[in-house]
Amino acid sequence: MLSREKETAAYSLESVVARALTRAQGDLSGELAAYIPELARVPPDAFGVAVASVGGDVAAAGDTEVPFTIQSISKALAYCLALDVVGTPTVLSHVGVEPSGDAFNAIVFDPGTNRPFNPMVNAGAITVTGLLAGALGAEAFDFLLDRFSAAAGRPLSFDADVYRSEAETGHRNRGIAHLLKCSGALAADVDATLDLYFRQCSILVTASDLARIGATLANIGENPGTGAAVFAVEAVRHTLSVMFTCGMYNFAGNWAFDVGVPAKSGVGGGILGVVNRQLGIATYSPRLDAKGNSVRGIAAFQELAEDLGLHVFDPTNRGSALLGAFKG
Ligand code: GLU
Repeated sequence: MLSREKETAAYSLESVVARALTRAQGDLSGELAAYIPELARVPPDAFGVAVASVGGDVAAAGDTEVPFTIQSISKALAYCLALDVVGTPTVLSHVGVEPSGDAFNAIVFDPGTNRPFNPMVNAGAITVTGLLAGALGAEAFDFLLDRFSAAAGRPLSFDADVYRSEAETGHRNRGIAHLLKCSGALAADVDATLDLYFRQCSILVTASDLARIGATLANIGENPGTGAAVFAVEAVRHTLSVMFTCGMYNFAGNWAFDVGVPAKSGVGGGILGVVNRQLGIATYSPRLDAKGNSVRGIAAFQELAEDLGLHVFDPTNRGSALLGAFKG
């Protein structure tokens, strides 16, 4: 059976994106991530959906130019970069690749190895950031900002108020970092690592930026708009793998079942999805469900996955031939 939109002749990326936004728009349930005080101050009703193809096309609907902090989506990008900077064996010796089923901020490590379960939960992400802090020292944040910017195709900045807000109140992450230091998973200095982690989480992006970052990952590391080589090919494969299994907090299994694309969400309200070799997809809507995922973001992804047959195991998924359909 073909998916809804493929049965009709009126098939454009713009129309599919606009429809996903319209269908998800009405759900105003969920709450802002108030545990970082500054995040409780963002306008709650912004909603944007953007899709960027590896061919350089971008379709956007709604508030796709509203800046928001990248938060945990940075974990996927930092992981991709760390795999290249310090090498896959070193990263794997510090952080596993096993879904934990626990909340993003759980204080739990793999009992067999004493390592964090995976790089998409805070414990694993702080460990990965520690590897970058250790390897790059004082240059680490500029390096991350430069690489994130190259992936987005424009210079990004960071939100100093959100950074300060989290640095002042992030006691749970401080606790996690000290335990990681104690267990041996975190090699670098605790304070330097947390400072870098809070800064990387405070990098500002729009949904359009995130879609382009996704297209860079989909394009095996090369920004389709600028041609810049941003991520290493092997690192992209590893990163998409952990995004697929661990990227949506303790909703990752449901997401894989339902939407079926590698994705990462952040408590700032963004979700980044990647359709390998085809598309970067991004949504922004800051009201979150109890697991920390954007309510309308999930709904919009479900619509897009259904309309475009994006699920990796969808029998109507036509692989890269899908791109030809957009141009027709
Ligand atoms: N900076 C946030 C934290 O560590 C990121 C969490 C998230 O987006 O899941 O608590």
